[in-house]
Amino acid sequence: LYQKEAARRKLVHNKLIELQGNIRVIARVRPVVQAELNSGEHREVVDCTTNEDLVVHRDPTTRTRFEFDKVCDQGSSQAEAYELVSPLVTSVLDGYNVCIFAYGQTGSGKTYTMEGPVDNRGVNYQAIAEMFEVAKEREEDVSYTFKVSMLEIYNNTVRDLLSPTLDEFNQPKVLKIRQTSEGNVVQGLTELDVVTSSMVEDAMKKAGDNRSVGSHSMNLHSSRSHLIVTVTTGGVDKHNGVKSKGKLHLIDLAGSERISKTDASGERLKEAQSINNSLSALGNVINALGKKKVDHVPYRDSQLTFLLQDSLGGNSKVMMFVNLSPVSYNMNESLCSLSFAARCRAVQLGSGKKNDNSKEKEIKRLKNVIRKAGINEKD
Ligand code: ADP
Ligand code: MG
Repeated sequence: LYQKEAARRKLVHNKLIELQGNIRVIARVRPVVQAELNSGEHREVVDCTTNEDLVVHRDPTTRTRFEFDKVCDQGSSQAEAYELVSPLVTSVLDGYNVCIFAYGQTGSGKTYTMEGPVDNRGVNYQAIAEMFEVAKEREEDVSYTFKVSMLEIYNNTVRDLLSPTLDEFNQPKVLKIRQTSEGNVVQGLTELDVVTSSMVEDAMKKAGDNRSVGSHSMNLHSSRSHLIVTVTTGGVDKHNGVKSKGKLHLIDLAGSERISKTDASGERLKEAQSINNSLSALGNVINALGKKKVDHVPYRDSQLTFLLQDSLGGNSKVMMFVNLSPVSYNMNESLCSLSFAARCRAVQLGSGKKNDNSKEKEIKRLKNVIRKAGINEKD
């Protein structure tokens, strides 16, 4: 009976999400790594209790439970991680703007999840392959075009990764974001026309090479900057000429770990502060979007949120991976990431915008179903 009720609850919850546009969150716990085994603090504290719940064992008597749209345990495959992303990717072809984030401390598995090793590719590659597949399936009815761009945001400045130009000081040229009627655009950013997924893969490889230029350590650099792969699609209905436009942002965020002022100085402190600022700006924007009356959404507080302005509010769809280490050594950072993710998940996007009537009615009906069943909607 419990299982039946849980399944029913999930169904209703999913329908609500579909209509209301909650931010979906997938928690993914990576396997223990060697460095953790060496640290001596490798007691496993994150326990994936069900497909939607995890528990953090803070100490032998204190446990904190979190519920997400999906929980991927240490043994989860790249295909399992992608499962819930898939419908969002398809909706880009229906004309939605979609953001997929990977959030978590450095070393928690963000890049593994988004990019993945060469022989076991992650969300980015699966998403792009699927877009081209679905476009092919719809070939008789809609013709699609695709453009791809890749950039990174480092110290709150935007840098093109597909054709990095240098300024007069031999530093990567900083690009400006401008607000236009077409959304916020990065001036001068390279956009490649692509017709196959292998063209996108080549571009991603090139972006990776460009990203490491001028940095002493690729790993350090990549953990301190946000990487954004953007695919824009244009569709034309072959029967009635109706046009649609969609945008997919795939975002590998900078490491979310807190760096105390005593641990860092100079360039390192500046990096840490700009990461803190942009991640808090992301949280603040998401919170503001969830308010019933939106008077001010602080998009301009960081280049990250300003860039994503047209893909975070309104009818956009947002999904976040929260990546986690399983062991005690990283428990405090894991708890910080989990509470950030839990706050994001509670937000309902698009509540500032007027939904059409039929939607309102359906939402009311589903809320009633939930109430009658005695299910707490916030659970
Ligand atoms: P981040 O990008 O968050 O800094 P990485 O993706 O680089 O972290 O992951 C850190 C290490 O853990 C890497 O060696 C990576 O291969 C490994 N790793 C991360 N997630 C997984 C996973 N789901 N399965 C197996 N290994 C993983
Ligand atoms: Mg990384």
